[in-house]
Amino acid sequence: MLDMLRAIVQEVNTAEDLDAALSIIVRRVRDAMGTEVCSVYMRDPKSDRLVLRATEGLNKSQIGKAGLEEGQGLVGQVAEREEPINLEDAASHPSFQAIPGIGEEPFSAFLGVPIIHHREVLGVLVVQQAQRRRFDESEEAFLITMSAQLAGVVAHALVTGSVHTGDGAAEAAVIRGVAGAPGIAIGRAVIVSPEADLYAVPHRKAEDRKAELRAFKTALTAVRADIEQVAEQLSTELSPEDHALFDVYLRILDDATIGAEVASRIKAGEWAQGALSEVMIEHIQIFERMEQSYLRERAVDVKDLGTRVLAYLQAADKSVQSFPPATILVGEELTASVLGEIPRENLTGIISVRGSSNSHVAILARAMGVPTVMGAIDLPYTRLQDRELIIDGYNGEVHLNPSDEFRARFEDLVAEDQALSRDLEALRDAPCETLDNKRLPLWVNTGLMVDVARSLDQGAEGVGLYRTEVPFLLRERFPSEEEQRQIYRSQLEAFAPKPVTMRTLDIGGDKALPYFPIEEDNPFLGWRGIRVTLDHPEIFLVQTRAMLKASEGLGNLRIMLPMISNVAELEEAQEFIRRAHRELLEEGADIDLPPVGVMVEVPSAVYQARALARRADFLSVGSNDLTQYLLAVDRNNARVADLYHSFHPAVLKALQQVAEAARAEQTPVSICGELAGDPGAAVLLLAMGYDVLSMNATNLTRVKQAMRHVTTGDAAELLADVVSLESAEAVQLQLEDFLVEKGLAGFIHARLGPAG
Ligand code: PEP
Ligand code: MG
Repeated sequence: MLDMLRAIVQEVNTAEDLDAALSIIVRRVRDAMGTEVCSVYMRDPKSDRLVLRATEGLNKSQIGKAGLEEGQGLVGQVAEREEPINLEDAASHPSFQAIPGIGEEPFSAFLGVPIIHHREVLGVLVVQQAQRRRFDESEEAFLITMSAQLAGVVAHALVTGSVHTGDGAAEAAVIRGVAGAPGIAIGRAVIVSPEADLYAVPHRKAEDRKAELRAFKTALTAVRADIEQVAEQLSTELSPEDHALFDVYLRILDDATIGAEVASRIKAGEWAQGALSEVMIEHIQIFERMEQSYLRERAVDVKDLGTRVLAYLQAADKSVQSFPPATILVGEELTASVLGEIPRENLTGIISVRGSSNSHVAILARAMGVPTVMGAIDLPYTRLQDRELIIDGYNGEVHLNPSDEFRARFEDLVAEDQALSRDLEALRDAPCETLDNKRLPLWVNTGLMVDVARSLDQGAEGVGLYRTEVPFLLRERFPSEEEQRQIYRSQLEAFAPKPVTMRTLDIGGDKALPYFPIEEDNPFLGWRGIRVTLDHPEIFLVQTRAMLKASEGLGNLRIMLPMISNVAELEEAQEFIRRAHRELLEEGADIDLPPVGVMVEVPSAVYQARALARRADFLSVGSNDLTQYLLAVDRNNARVADLYHSFHPAVLKALQQVAEAARAEQTPVSICGELAGDPGAAVLLLAMGYDVLSMNATNLTRVKQAMRHVTTGDAAELLADVVSLESAEAVQLQLEDFLVEKGLAGFIHARLGPAG
């Protein structure tokens, strides 16, 4: 059963578009279940009608025509109730409604199951039989399992179809992801893909077909020579059976079909890498569908060979990736280092297939002010090279083939955003204070050098979080003490005399250094942040020495420790910092010991906030991780992004508790998670007693504007109302009402991912 399910899903996965996928589904499911009819009705999102889109056993001429309104007939009932209907005699059911012309009269038995993807009913899968009988439990379970597995594939095929239809009169499509960074962007896709990954090769037109063919042949010859050489070297050590493996490899390469297929696709206009990837993936899938396990295992060999050929093609490809103006960067899993490579003025938008609003690439995008959609899992991104796209970074949506009218609406939104930013620029030098003159310093979070100028431009009064891992991520080895000193010095100098809070290296979780891989099953609960650096004093001491040296003569350094989950970690880290300081004094430096603070981003630190506050010079709440750990929601997982909500009452309670603990110990407390950049949340944080809010530069003037429209009394009242609410949605609505009441309605749609 499992094998059959897997084989069907794999075959459907190879389909070029939705119609091809659906016809495979109906054919294979009918055969697998031995029924006479299998059909798929798809919901038309415009009319909500369920239209017959594929069938085996009914009248095919009605495909695309026959259908039912939602709620009507048995198929409509399945969609409306979102559950299966299993009947011995369909026609005698009160909801039965005959669909004229499809020829279902001879069939009595009916089993229909909904196809649901991300809570949305995409369609209904139906099997029918002439014999009067109820489908048994195992048949019902099979169809439900089939439908659940196929839902994602169907959703993907739906979008792939609109990509395939090309630029002309193609249908508009919307791909939903997660809001990553606010704003609207209109531009053309540039795909970045990891090297030697057959599944991530962008499809492109060959500029010179002959040259592409030559490159393919050269790469094949090179791989063949490599394999022959290895076989030769190992000839005395390997048994004849092991040696036979090399023959298998060479036979696959010599296989006229694979080589010929790739060549014919190149001749048809695809570039060599794209043609190779298409053909190899098809062959891998054929092997994976084989019944015998030894044949299935050959899929691994085919993949390995394809990857080798691809690596040669990529190495020989001298063309440099270019990023023209209005680039929308698209990739499966974009990283901070990719962002660093692109000229900022040409980068208009970002789409990452994986990750969510609190992935680090999204945080950097927000800091850079680049509209971003994360977690666009259904986006067939390899097919989008050079295609025009619209990104709605407020709602986390990507628009393909928009109508002229739709495009014009988005252009208006871009103009509105620009006007709002211009208005806010006037606030640059105004103090952040409430109507009753309570000052609340607004600091920024930085990481990339581009942040510095933007932050100063926006009137930042300090840096509340400098993510030191960013310069580490952009290198191929650990930066030396002197390299680090120079990097830190430029940050400290740029802001001096304003304070700069440098966080010690926070790697692990979703931040892996290419040269220091950490392989773990559960990285967010594993070796992360302070846990790594305490285990590697050489890394920690070099980093703190570099920070201290960089601060010489400036005196604006603050050091902050990430992922502290107990008192001992803080004490140990403080001891290392004192040691680094002592060493430097002995070496003749003249440096003060800077304030050392703790990030409160793990639930245990909330409950121990007083003990930590007693020992530290300041606390700073990392609400991004705190939300993830309190709500048990992976901040990178788009599937659970709806559950990730920093307005959750539990998160707000924790924030309040930390502020109270800090006050009880007279320790300053700030917040440097993304929540601080939400205008409504900022008012709540003021009322809770936060001394400083640190946010990405993009939101700074928005928050300042909000503060300048309220009194401390308004903020206290708002907090009193909000603490009694029991859901994140209710909190969000209350904050929206508040902003509207204060004449700040314009900020509502600009809310950031974590808060909305
Ligand atoms: C946080 O967790 O809130 C935080 C500011 O740190 P980061 O997002 O870098 O994990
Ligand atoms: Mg964190």
